[in-house]
Amino acid sequence: MEENCIFCKIVNKEIPVKMIYENDNFVAFPDVAPQIKGHCLIVSKKHFVNSLDIPATLGNELIGAIKSIFELKVKEDKSIEGFNIVQNNFPVAGQIVMHAHWHFLPRRKDDGKHLRLE
Ligand code: AMP
Ligand code: ZN
Repeated sequence: MEENCIFCKIVNKEIPVKMIYENDNFVAFPDVAPQIKGHCLIVSKKHFVNSLDIPATLGNELIGAIKSIFELKVKEDKSIEGFNIVQNNFPVAGQIVMHAHWHFLPRRKDDGKHLRLE
């Protein structure tokens, strides 16, 4: 737990959010400013800063979380056909909250979102 870290406070239930998923090392909840319908964040329970900080042994669990969240999302909205995972590492790459997290962006046909690397 890092003092003044908003995601630590969410993990510790000091700030209430609607948790959509939880396993031993990750939680997921909706992004407060969704970029697309259903945008949520997968957040490590421990205060790691980003990918460089997180133990590689948690990789399997992270992939498991991604798969489970996709299944949950598809169950509640059949128009979801895919997803993007985005992670910003360090402020120069757009990381604002310095507690490891992955953006899960559900994708629908013709949703008008463009996430091309160009
Ligand atoms: P990043 O630029 O990758 O650090 O993104 C941080 C994300 O956290 C942004 O998309 C914010 O909208 C989101 N965020 C910040 N505070 C909260 C909060 N209290 N609950 C949910 N999402 C949040
Ligand atoms: Zn934290």
